[in-house]
Amino acid sequence: MSNTEQAIQYIHTNFERFIRDLIDYSKIPSVSFPGYPPEPLVDSARWTARKMEAVGLEHVEILEISGAPPFVVGDWLHAPGAPTILLYAHHDVQPPGRPEKWLSPAFKPERRGDRLYGRGVVDDKAGALMHLFALEAYLKSSGKLPVNVRFLIEGEEETGSAHLGEFVTHYKDRLKADLMVLTDTANLDIGLPSLTYRLRGLVDAIVEVRTLDHPVHSGMWGGPTIDALTVLNKILARLTTADGKIAIPDFYEGILPVEGVEKERLRALPFDEKKFLQEIGGVSSLQLSGEQEFSAYERIWCRPACAILGIDAPQVAKTSNQIVEWARAKVSIRTVSGMNPKKSLERLCDFLAKDPPYGAEVNVKPGTAGNPWKVDPVGPAYEAAARALKKGFGRDAVFIGCGGSIPFVEPLTKEFGGIPALLIGLEDPYCNAHGENESLFLPDWKKGMEGAVWLYSEKLV
Ligand SMILES: [Zn+2]
Repeated sequence: MSNTEQAIQYIHTNFERFIRDLIDYSKIPSVSFPGYPPEPLVDSARWTARKMEAVGLEHVEILEISGAPPFVVGDWLHAPGAPTILLYAHHDVQPPGRPEKWLSPAFKPERRGDRLYGRGVVDDKAGALMHLFALEAYLKSSGKLPVNVRFLIEGEEETGSAHLGEFVTHYKDRLKADLMVLTDTANLDIGLPSLTYRLRGLVDAIVEVRTLDHPVHSGMWGGPTIDALTVLNKILARLTTADGKIAIPDFYEGILPVEGVEKERLRALPFDEKKFLQEIGGVSSLQLSGEQEFSAYERIWCRPACAILGIDAPQVAKTSNQIVEWARAKVSIRTVSGMNPKKSLERLCDFLAKDPPYGAEVNVKPGTAGNPWKVDPVGPAYEAAARALKKGFGRDAVFIGCGGSIPFVEPLTKEFGGIPALLIGLEDPYCNAHGENESLFLPDWKKGMEGAVWLYSEKLV
């Protein structure tokens, strides 16, 4: 039996124990959002470090950058002549959401059928452990790895990795690699291994409208007196056109058309509108929105999309017959490769502030301007990943986009001279990551682990 086959065998023998470890890890409420206690992030960093040591990684350390939750690193560098992989995952999680919506408590992971339910089980604790156990499988069976590995597990991903850039600059020597494997994305469907080669960026802003310095009686003053909420709604309605386009001038500048091989690839992916509507929990009469001339995948992965995330205004239950003097909203736009994040944010803010209806006072506060990312998934690393995933899952891998954002992928790969980045993950359309009843499909976790074992043995560069 080859070392790789022994490692696969090891996974089969130990999988139930791996699940117990994942349950243990996911009990730590390592929420990185403001307002949550920082101690659980220290606990989860320590848990991660102990596990790294237990599987046989070396130079395991919890590293700090002022103001950030702890980072955990470790490595194994005894494969002379072989390339070095930088593995990335995160140990922080989203807030649990509404407790009453969870069928089992968020931080008491529960196995029901083939799925494990709990906050962070799929995003991203299973991602972190998938590689740690794949490494263990080699190190505990044959005592060595076919490749050099550096592992970085961060604690601030869910809030936007604000300190990751600084961390990478500071600890560059501990992260230097020939390629990067980031395990925090999704598969297109259960059992369908997927490599993500494009991500959207994100810009957002808060727009605040004031028409009066105090509310006034809607009967006595209404008519010539406009309420701030109507003004806000008019501004928000301007953002998109009836045919699903974003109406901000020049907003689409720089976007390259999807064509050739990429277009073919997207066309070949399975898409079922009914299933899609079911997955998002759409009401029975709901229709798909956006630019109808583009396929749904193109709309999610390759085209910008605008959403209003929230509005502050008087609550309906607390209204009286008064003209509202103030209101505000948060607007978010997903951007795509080719667009300049800073310019996109500027355009959004200018558009919101321009020509305020009825001379209302409009203030716009710019928010984030995160990078989109895209690669052409060709070359040894991507081919190796496709072969490895096929072996792990017993099924051809597909190349997909992701409508979400991982802003650091672009700067991180650039930092190391434009190294390839393999984005693979364990989420699926039913996993409800970030929502209540987040879950991991355990058979895919096992397959992903086997895929990782095969990947380390591949010709990567
Ligand atoms: Zn994640």
